[in-house]
Amino acid sequence: MGTSDGALRLRGVTVSLDGQPLIAGLSLDVAPGEVATVMGPSGSGKSTLLSWICGSVDPAFAIEGRIELDGHDITGTVPEARRVGILFQDDLLFPHLSVGENLAFGIPRGVGREERRKRVADALAEAELPGFEDRDPATLSGGQRARIALMRTLLAEPKALLLDEPFSKLDAALRDRVRRFVFDHATERGLPTLLVTHDPDDAAAADGPVLEIGEGGEVEARAAGEGPPVVRKAGTI
Ligand code: ADP
Ligand code: MG
Repeated sequence: MGTSDGALRLRGVTVSLDGQPLIAGLSLDVAPGEVATVMGPSGSGKSTLLSWICGSVDPAFAIEGRIELDGHDITGTVPEARRVGILFQDDLLFPHLSVGENLAFGIPRGVGREERRKRVADALAEAELPGFEDRDPATLSGGQRARIALMRTLLAEPKALLLDEPFSKLDAALRDRVRRFVFDHATERGLPTLLVTHDPDDAAAADGPVLEIGEGGEVEARAAGEGPPVVRKAGTI
């Protein structure tokens, strides 16, 4: 058991399907506020790795290894108690709920009505969408939806953030701004963040350690800063 330093640590992770290793021996430390990247082609087990960290992996996969978050071994912990937030490519905002109701959905149970209302309003302000409580999610732009999806995930007060190619459906210009928005918020909150992607630009923008999954599941490490140069752009989405 490690110290309570806010880090996310993966140790000796092996993911197999039908006896074939997809990922073999992945170990990674993600410091609070750092964005680490796991790269690999489609089908290399990236989404499976993240669902395992969340505690919701399909039993078809055989997985070995250990997950430590903030000094606690959470490998066998029930998903609700892990405090791991995840953002997907499809943001899955509920279409029958307003934007405000979608956000409120992320807030832990037991928080009172007035406090929920306040947290939703604060999240909308932070997403630069103040007063959007009653909007229908269908009326939002791609960038607005992405920001709301992030806020909903953060309202659940996670201690780590997982990103499953959440930028890959956005066009190039928007993609850069949404990526910046997500990374900045994760960093501000001091969340260890793990991004999986097959896009080298995502890894460069993350500016953290990079692991690459190879053909036979072997994992290659690349230290922070060894990627291509990072272009940072300021501004809103
Ligand atoms: P990635 O996210 O890197 O594209 P995935 O983790 O989604 O890869 O999938 C890894 C492999 O496992 C793929 O070959 C995929 O078809 C297969 N797979 C995904 N989910 C299941 C499942 N529930 N049962 C069996 N095979 C699956
Ligand atoms: Mg995937």
